[in-house]
Amino acid sequence: MATLTDKKRAKTQSIGRPAAELIFGDLWAFDPAPETADPKLKARYDLFIGGKFVAPAAGKYFDSINPANETKLAEIAHAGVADVDAAFVAAQKAFVTWGKMPGKERAKHIYRIARLLQDRAREFAVAETMDGGKPIKESRDFDVPMAAAHFFYHAGWADKLDYVAPGRKVAPLGVVGQVIPWNFPLLMMAWKLAPALAMGNCVVIKPAETTSITALKLGEILQDAGLPAGVVNIVSGFGDTGAAVMNHPIAAKVAFTGSTEVGKIIMRSLAGTEKKMTMELGGKAANIIFDDAPLDQAVEGIVNGIFFNQGHVCCAGSRLLVQESVADQVLAKLKQRIKVLRVGDPLDKNTDLGAINSKEQLGTIQRLVAAGVKEGATLFQPECKLPAKGYYFRPTVFSDVAMSHRIAREEIFGPVLSVLTFRTLEEAVEKANNTAYGLSAGVWTDKGSRILKMSTELKAGVVWANTYNKFDPTSPFGGYKESGFGREGGRQGLLDYCKLI
Ligand code: ADP
Repeated sequence: MATLTDKKRAKTQSIGRPAAELIFGDLWAFDPAPETADPKLKARYDLFIGGKFVAPAAGKYFDSINPANETKLAEIAHAGVADVDAAFVAAQKAFVTWGKMPGKERAKHIYRIARLLQDRAREFAVAETMDGGKPIKESRDFDVPMAAAHFFYHAGWADKLDYVAPGRKVAPLGVVGQVIPWNFPLLMMAWKLAPALAMGNCVVIKPAETTSITALKLGEILQDAGLPAGVVNIVSGFGDTGAAVMNHPIAAKVAFTGSTEVGKIIMRSLAGTEKKMTMELGGKAANIIFDDAPLDQAVEGIVNGIFFNQGHVCCAGSRLLVQESVADQVLAKLKQRIKVLRVGDPLDKNTDLGAINSKEQLGTIQRLVAAGVKEGATLFQPECKLPAKGYYFRPTVFSDVAMSHRIAREEIFGPVLSVLTFRTLEEAVEKANNTAYGLSAGVWTDKGSRILKMSTELKAGVVWANTYNKFDPTSPFGGYKESGFGREGGRQGLLDYCKLI
């Protein structure tokens, strides 16, 4: 610990900080606390087709980079049209038996996947953090356990499908094509695979190009779980691979999670076909603080809402709507709070904000933040030191934001919060709903009746009350408007993977 020099003491006192406020990394520094579990990475990852790891037909590979230090982690196979085709053929063949297997037998496989993932939890958490940049405390305490929880939950459903749609029988759709994004790579695999498998479907899935490692490591678990060959096929690659998966004639249904822009491309290309679709797209959620809210708890909720996973969250609370009478107070508390967030090495157990997932995404964030400054919003960033190598961005809060600003309208997908104010409940609803998106929202108030009114009036698939970013496999998640359609999780999520007979 550094000693408090006179200069620093004078600085501390001159800005009137409460005596108890400690600024870590300024007067204090944490010792490094790196997670040391072995992620067991291979130098090269092949495609997982028909129960085996196979090289791509065209022999193409691309590099997966650790965004925390810009080093190469592994080579990943780039699946072409022929590989995607082979994956669908394998899935179609597997469906003949998997689709008819009694639910209690399918359940055993899915339970085994969940348990094997728990066995290798630490290894997967480290691999996830190295590949994607998220803090180890999140991959260890959220991503991996939540992925296992999704497999457990859906395993429980597999032999109870007679009760999923009361009064109706259900049947699987066949082969499902799925494409997932880079913000929760393993968890999105679990969200997509578990309900599809529980219902008796077979799958061809494509992970995002910057984060394929844990998806392909899950292939090892599927093998160890004895999942019949071809039930799940994993084809890594870029947008071209994703398009081949979405457009494949064998796919009875496609499920996509990613940007609204790509979602629209997929919907245009599939218009007029018989394929069922689920789309989970972008968001620009309002996190709404009323003046009777417990403000200290609300500040924690605001921080969790926008800085969880560096803000790479489609349901992030990226627009803070705060009632005018408490706006100055909330902003002051928020600034004080984000000064103690630790930004840096994602593998350090004390890190709150890790690395931005890719150079491209860092560029997008920088461009939108520059637009915010240019349009006249007031920027606040704490003075934290960033590592010299890697892609990092300081937690950022914009005040004096107008609804017309780009930072209030466009999804930034980074640690950037736009603060707006309101006077009445009606104004809060009007502003919150004045967006092309409709994925999520947060409401902070002491009044139960106000929570009920707000959750009815907000056009958002999920409304959190006095909390934010809470997830559970039993709870359906999905959007309205340009945030997409269909639900994932819960009974509703299962219904999106079956036909009613
Ligand atoms: P983001 O902006 O979050 O990176 P994208 O929508 O670009 O989201 O990517 C989400 C997923 O969609 C990734 O796996 C990506 O490779 C894939 N993808 C990109 N373009 C297409 C496309 N035209 N068709 C299908 N999948 C695509």
